Amino acid sequence: MRPTEVEEYRQRARTNGVRPLTLVSLALLATGPVHQPPAPVVTGIEYQLVFNRTTAAARSLGVSMRFQASAAGPVELSLPAWTPGAYEISNYARRVSSLTAVQGAAALRWDKTDFDTWRVHVSAPGPVTVAFIFSADTLDNAMAWSRADFAFVNGTNVLLYPEGAGLDFPATLSVETEAGWDVATGLTSTGPRRYTEANFHDLVDMPLFIGRFDVDSALIGGVMNRIASYPAGALAGAARVLLWKQLSTMVPAMAKVFGETPWPNYTTLLVFDSAFGGGSALEHQNSHLGIYSPDFIGTPVLASITAHEIFHGWNVKRLRPSEMVPYRYDRPQPSPLLWVREGITDYYADLALVRGGVIDSALFLNVTQGKIDEVTATPPVALEDASLSTWIQPTDGTGTIYYAKGSLAGLLLDIMIRDASDNRASLDEVMRTLYRATVPAGRGFTTDEWWAAVNALAGRDLASAFAPRYIDGRESFPWARVAPLAGIRYIADSVSEPRLGVGTTTVEGREIVTNVTPGGPAALAGVLPGDELIRIGDLKFDPNFGPAFRARYRARSGSTVPLIVRRADAEISLTLVIRAELRVDGRLEFDRRPSLKAARIRHAILSGTTDRQ
Ligand SMILES: [Zn+2]
Repeated sequence: MRPTEVEEYRQRARTNGVRPLTLVSLALLATGPVHQPPAPVVTGIEYQLVFNRTTAAARSLGVSMRFQASAAGPVELSLPAWTPGAYEISNYARRVSSLTAVQGAAALRWDKTDFDTWRVHVSAPGPVTVAFIFSADTLDNAMAWSRADFAFVNGTNVLLYPEGAGLDFPATLSVETEAGWDVATGLTSTGPRRYTEANFHDLVDMPLFIGRFDVDSALIGGVMNRIASYPAGALAGAARVLLWKQLSTMVPAMAKVFGETPWPNYTTLLVFDSAFGGGSALEHQNSHLGIYSPDFIGTPVLASITAHEIFHGWNVKRLRPSEMVPYRYDRPQPSPLLWVREGITDYYADLALVRGGVIDSALFLNVTQGKIDEVTATPPVALEDASLSTWIQPTDGTGTIYYAKGSLAGLLLDIMIRDASDNRASLDEVMRTLYRATVPAGRGFTTDEWWAAVNALAGRDLASAFAPRYIDGRESFPWARVAPLAGIRYIADSVSEPRLGVGTTTVEGREIVTNVTPGGPAALAGVLPGDELIRIGDLKFDPNFGPAFRARYRARSGSTVPLIVRRADAEISLTLVIRAELRVDGRLEFDRRPSLKAARIRHAILSGTTDRQ
């Protein structure tokens, strides 16, 4: 069964579970009182995590939940199935073992009502403790992972919630670990290794580092920021100083978009592990957890992903589409606005880097060009459709295109708003307007509200011409018309040339595959994301590889050649079939003689300003 089918099945099961109560109520009306004992009310919830040398040896965490039950009777407790931000069903209950429920010295009977809900049969009013072991062996930022002296864990993995009473209950979480070990988390500390939050949403939103790791802190814009990194010594010396320097300029550039920093402190949690190909991070309301290959240390890519996740503190953790307010943890929450959540965030990560001086405008344009190339190499897909489809992880190559394509949509809208308003408004104001209208009210924004804000700030209707074609439609983006409004030329070339069908990132001179186009020559040869490209025939992968490859193999479509990659420290020889493809290539370059207005807009985008009086 696909996850969605599992979820639908479970929703039906739960609905069926509720029905009999309704029927009992109707029966009550019809036939008079029938004795029905009140279900126990659960209060005073306290969670405990145990991670020490003993549990580390088993790569597990000890988890317990203690609560007061108001009466005897069944209490249903569920584990979340996913972590907000990681839009996939992971079913954390799979990693639970040895569950026990006790009241005083007596073991309580329990059974399951579905695959992630346990029903504990409480025997009398009073305290109940439910405990289990959770496997911490998955190097994934939505999961739990451990080493001999370290673990990270997400609250969604291990914290049970009572069914039927909502998620707005206060709770505490305490951590028991070795005396010399430390804990780092965005949770609100209310005692030694003890944390309290007002509701379940906040409690599960802050992952924890437990064990030995490096940690230091600094004030940025008056807010305490902390970097915690594992293993100790991995992010050290000049590389750590560089990341702090980058944060000190990127974070204020992002805060300026919204006009406030809504968190009292912020924790950047970083894990570096050579078994992890590439880099991936997951946002939380005042922290994020990033997992990277050590190759990322000291690169602008690490700064870029870090900026992306911090921007999510505003856009996603607070400013959020209405479909996702409030979060629910037992089923997918698809929204057509994922492109705003991820794509617009990615646009602002690029802007944070250039506005903060981490990269220059030429590299900003290169990064943007890379996104155009990625979209060009991907089957046409509407951003709204790609947004909805993320939950089923499409296999046609469009699965994560909402990042790059959504980011480009952000740039286009920014240019069009600035052009229409004579640079008196920008996409920054769209974000700020929606943030102020919805976040204090505790609600999400709708697609209609998004476009209303765009139109209001542009001073005219941009949405009705743009949205149906480029956001809910599959037309190629109008670069030739829009880019010049910001002093950027768009040059289109039609070429037939051999293609590999991979996306790569250069890390310290090494070419690492980040994605493989399904059905493309590299995919057919067996190239996988995370592979390091070494050479094709005698042609080495270096900065000049692309032009040399196309020149060498342009006339050799159909021939085969060895493709050498490095995977898990071993060189592997694959067989590549050369294939030429016709494509239209669009190239952006800064116009050396832009109009005065276009020059103003270009400067304002790159510096985060407008010409409003
Ligand atoms: Zn993101």
